[in-house]
Amino acid sequence: MATAVVVGSGPNGLAAAVRLAQEGIPVTVYEGADRPGGGTRTSELTLPGVLHDDCAGIHPTGVASPFLASLELERFGLEWRWPEVDLAHPLDDGRAGILSRDTARTAAALGRDGAAWSRLFTPLVRDFGKLTDDVFRPVAGIPRHPVTMARFGLAAALPATWAVRRFRDEPARALFLGNAAHAFGRLDTPLSSAIGMLMITAGHAVGWPVAAGGTQAITTAMIRLLESLGGTVTTGVTVTSLDQLRERTGAAPDIVLFDTAPDAAARIAGDRLPGRVRRALARYRHGPAVHKVDYAIEGDVPWTNEDCRRAGTLHLGGTAAEIAAAEAATARGELPDRPFVLVGQQYLADPTRSAGSVNPLYAYAHVPHDHPGDPTEAVTAQIERFAPGFRDRVLATHTRTARQMAAYNPNYKGGDICAGANTARQLLLRPRAGLDPYALGAPGLYLCSAATPPGAGVHGMGGANAAESALSWLRRR
Ligand SMILES: Cc1cc2nc3c(=O)[nH]c(=O)nc-3n(C[C@H](O)[C@H](O)[C@H](O)COP(=O)(O)OP(=O)(O)OC[C@H]3O[C@@H](n4cnc5c(N)ncnc54)[C@H](O)[C@@H]3O)c2cc1C
Repeated sequence: MATAVVVGSGPNGLAAAVRLAQEGIPVTVYEGADRPGGGTRTSELTLPGVLHDDCAGIHPTGVASPFLASLELERFGLEWRWPEVDLAHPLDDGRAGILSRDTARTAAALGRDGAAWSRLFTPLVRDFGKLTDDVFRPVAGIPRHPVTMARFGLAAALPATWAVRRFRDEPARALFLGNAAHAFGRLDTPLSSAIGMLMITAGHAVGWPVAAGGTQAITTAMIRLLESLGGTVTTGVTVTSLDQLRERTGAAPDIVLFDTAPDAAARIAGDRLPGRVRRALARYRHGPAVHKVDYAIEGDVPWTNEDCRRAGTLHLGGTAAEIAAAEAATARGELPDRPFVLVGQQYLADPTRSAGSVNPLYAYAHVPHDHPGDPTEAVTAQIERFAPGFRDRVLATHTRTARQMAAYNPNYKGGDICAGANTARQLLLRPRAGLDPYALGAPGLYLCSAATPPGAGVHGMGGANAAESALSWLRRR
């Protein structure tokens, strides 16, 4: 009987482990940290009883993921909860772009841009199942739904700064560009619309929910499922070589899946990897970083715009032009005075995270790769800009700089939470050019982290796809 080891217990590592365990393969997951989950952990970072998501907080890709849906994690305690307003993008004049699951309601709120918004997104929302069928796989492959992919691809290929020209007013322009900024990079380059198009379409199709009790609930549910299938997770073990795995398990495992950064996989596998693969992985590029700030606040944020008070997620960055300039500066290695900030009000949909009237507020700014500073004040100032009086409600603060983020999780190199720059090349060919992006060119060795298609996000699809690759190799062996 074949055996398998997964290095790393992020959502992709756990997804890979579950997929193999479903086929009856004994699988052990080794995790370097003292708690499993990677980017899907929740902690009392500020005050007792106040629950903060350490990394991922909002889950459009989680609820859209075909693999996670197939696991029926609700049976293991996972519950999605949706805010009243999925996303808000406030502007200095008090207006805001508002995204909700209802495309027609979103379009109506966008006034004279509503028709253009509807024309762009309604067909994609209608075919969202087909879209996820293709975009959660390596996009360099032959699409299963060519018409839907062509429609998506035509819009996604445009630089985001061009794509917004179809809108006339700032709420729609800023709403679009704020979503495109999830790519963490310049927004005037080809394919820089792709991630934003997907985030908005997902928002209309399935919403931007949170996990009840915190993102950790996703990890807990996946581990319960894995254990029910006979798999195990061992924490506090940083894997440094394949010999170490042989010593631990008593025999070399047939399959090793790496939920790690590409260079870490290359180091651990050493000369088992062909030179061409090692060289290709060494060329893999990491992108800009985040500076994370978690606040414990008394009551709610006093947003000027009323709709923002009901929003699960907010994009703070002002106009489309301001966001494009801030993202370009960040990509150049300069910290803008007003960086792009994402705020999460998960507690609105999930009050179990609060302690009485004290609520957790989640925020991160986009900052340059490996940024050495602590721009907490810039994050607070962006919130205060759209919610005067916010500062007075802050009871406690916890911060993780870009460098601390990299120390917290070795996959976030230089604080890059996307596990790799979302350049056009790496969006299409991640982590390297090849027929099977998961295979590492040596029998039984696979990369399964967010450095593989479909990239960052809590969806487990990199892990599930890599496990499928491994399973088909086992069948051929
Ligand atoms: C601040 C922040 C906010 C985010 N917000 C969102 C969001 O709202 N929604 C969303 O969908 N995504 C979000 N993400 C991204 C998401 O968390 C990641 O894309 C996702 O967790 C990647 O999953 P993964 O399994 O590939 O890797 P990870 O979750 O990074 O897990 C990798 C695991 O492998 C372990 N590991 C690495 N090397 C070794 C080794 N040698 N030995 C043993 N263990 C090892 C690490 O300790 C880690 O636990 C966010 C991330 C961050 C940091």
